[in-house]
Amino acid sequence: MIASLNPSTGETLATFAPLSNVEVDARLVLAQQAAAEWRRTSVAERAWVLRQAAALLDEEQEVHARLMTTEMGKLIRAAREEVAKCALALRYYADHAASFTAPDVVLDEATQRGEVHYQPLGVVLAVMPWNFPFWQVMRFAAPALAAGNVGLLKHASNVPQCALALESLWERAGAPHGVFQTLLIEASRVEALIGDPRVAAVTLTGSEGAGRSVAAAAGRAIKKTVLELGGSDPFIVTANADVTAAARAAVTARTINNGQSCIAAKRFFCVNAIADEFMARFIEGMRELKPGDPMDGNTTLGPLATKSMREDLHAQVQLTVARGASCSLGGAPGDGPGYFYPATILENVPNDSPAATDELFGPVAAVFRVPDVDAALNAANASKFGLAASVWSRDAEEAGRCALALDCGTVFVNGVVASDPRFPFGGVKASGYGRELGPWGLREFVNVKTIRYLGTG
Ligand code: NAP
Repeated sequence: MIASLNPSTGETLATFAPLSNVEVDARLVLAQQAAAEWRRTSVAERAWVLRQAAALLDEEQEVHARLMTTEMGKLIRAAREEVAKCALALRYYADHAASFTAPDVVLDEATQRGEVHYQPLGVVLAVMPWNFPFWQVMRFAAPALAAGNVGLLKHASNVPQCALALESLWERAGAPHGVFQTLLIEASRVEALIGDPRVAAVTLTGSEGAGRSVAAAAGRAIKKTVLELGGSDPFIVTANADVTAAARAAVTARTINNGQSCIAAKRFFCVNAIADEFMARFIEGMRELKPGDPMDGNTTLGPLATKSMREDLHAQVQLTVARGASCSLGGAPGDGPGYFYPATILENVPNDSPAATDELFGPVAAVFRVPDVDAALNAANASKFGLAASVWSRDAEEAGRCALALDCGTVFVNGVVASDPRFPFGGVKASGYGRELGPWGLREFVNVKTIRYLGTG
């Protein structure tokens, strides 16, 4: 049974029987039929659907935001922003899909014509996580559908209502039946879907473990994949930083989405010269967070999304402390209802402990004091992950040197890392491969086809 639970209370909101194999097959048939039709529509027709979806999101922002907050616990303010960001991405691709898919013309020495076309692949399977239940889906769906593909969504099992709301949104926006379908199925059935000849490509946003499974299945089937996986992003505070601003941003960077963001800063490296001042302000900021009902506009820290997430996080904290770390704040969940975890700061973190080597998906910061910027860069790059990073320095030359030296897909200088429809987003190393957003995201799911006209006059 696929269950929707309110993580603030533990109450069951709804349950859904997973689709049977026969039902999944019927949806694959429909997806294939829809793909054949949709690829023949003009970019302008597809852009119209994207704009309709954006308009619906604007009109229905509160409904969708409340659904996300109820189903996975994000702060209502953040949920509203997420819906607005989805509308932004839809309009971005509606505006730019024509230029991103326009054929390039290449003339050879004899001025004979060659063309490069960007054609849809067909049915794209999207395996998505619960942490940004609308945004993660939209940043795959908007470019993929704009390019003429159709989408099959296997969403995380704890957000089935968001998954169904997204299917409904596309239908009501005017996408032909079957262009975007939700499959309520368990993760164990993804491998068979990837192997199905009717599925052309797969995109996964999720954990490293899920990435390995999906990549292996796609490798066996020789299918295109994009993997957006976990991260343990470094946040580097140099001696030239505005320490007050850095400490304030550090609180946001670690606790955004209740600490459950792939690009949340997770490892904080501060050079000794400013470490005491930074830590005093950081601890104060984390202590001032107000845990509580995420539907209440005054709350600044909501619950974790599931009970098992909280258990896993606490086990990582306990093991890190057992290995020698000290806990400067938090570190023990309360007894009340809901899956709350307190804002926690770990210092003196050993390099072989989970807080140093793994992803901590919750409001737990691992702080490392380092002698200088080079030590921070070396330690930051020692991670198996390489998603994003934040560097704090008012020295432009130093900031630029750090940004180039960091082994990851995105660096923000003097800011909290965030995705933006105009810029590519993705990682290196165990954070995955491929890029979402911008023209790069749209071109992940196209056949880049060369056509040369020789001797045609
Ligand atoms: P997850 O457990 O890996 O689940 C993600 C999706 O994959 C879910 O739909 C899940 O289905 C499915 N799945 C799990 N194991 C699978 C397997 N072996 N084969 C096929 N599908 C599988 O991750 P999560 O807990 O939902 O999300 C948190 C993770 O996502 C974190 O690591 C976070 O950093 C990462 N993330 C990355 C990005 C990025 O852009 N790089 C963005 C957001 C999140 P079930 O729910 O049914 O298990």
